[in-house]
Amino acid sequence: MRLRWWNYLLISVLVFGILFRAVISMAFREGQAEIVCPKCGSRFVWTPIGTRSENFLWRCLECGETWIKTYPDAVYMRWKRSMPGMVRDMVLKYIGEHHRDAARFIPKEAEWNEYKIIALDESVYEYSYGGWIVRIEWSVANGPTLKVTADYSAQRVSGYVGIPHRIIWEGKFADGSIVEEKYIHAV
Ligand SMILES: [Zn+2]
Repeated sequence: MRLRWWNYLLISVLVFGILFRAVISMAFREGQAEIVCPKCGSRFVWTPIGTRSENFLWRCLECGETWIKTYPDAVYMRWKRSMPGMVRDMVLKYIGEHHRDAARFIPKEAEWNEYKIIALDESVYEYSYGGWIVRIEWSVANGPTLKVTADYSAQRVSGYVGIPHRIIWEGKFADGSIVEEKYIHAV
């Protein structure tokens, strides 16, 4: 069978269509991609913000795997926006694991209210939920070290009647590691 010109045209349109769809779906996947540990799949990953290794050197905060990769801007910016929430969750988990008296006050699931002040050289994130106020501060001067304060007051829980528990935790999220500086549980 001999192919006529319109057969070629049809084949070209088909091939172009297939390629076009492949490119679009790849671009879409890339844009949707989340930064996770290539070994264990954890979302708790860290890059030294504010240093030359930012978005280049990565470490998994759960299994310790390290890898080198520069993620596309859109993907990296999404990680950076969600990073304070990750630090908040990790610090609360740390408090619950290291202070048995605090464990029962750590929310398992929470719908946090977020309040943020973002300036050129300093950012402050404040999260509140169920009696907790978690404050995360980071500045250009401190590089990859974030200052964290977690403050719980039973009296902030609406309708709460009982012992007025108060927990105050202060510490740092220093280049991926949690450093406790102060812990008070007053009743
Ligand atoms: Zn991992």
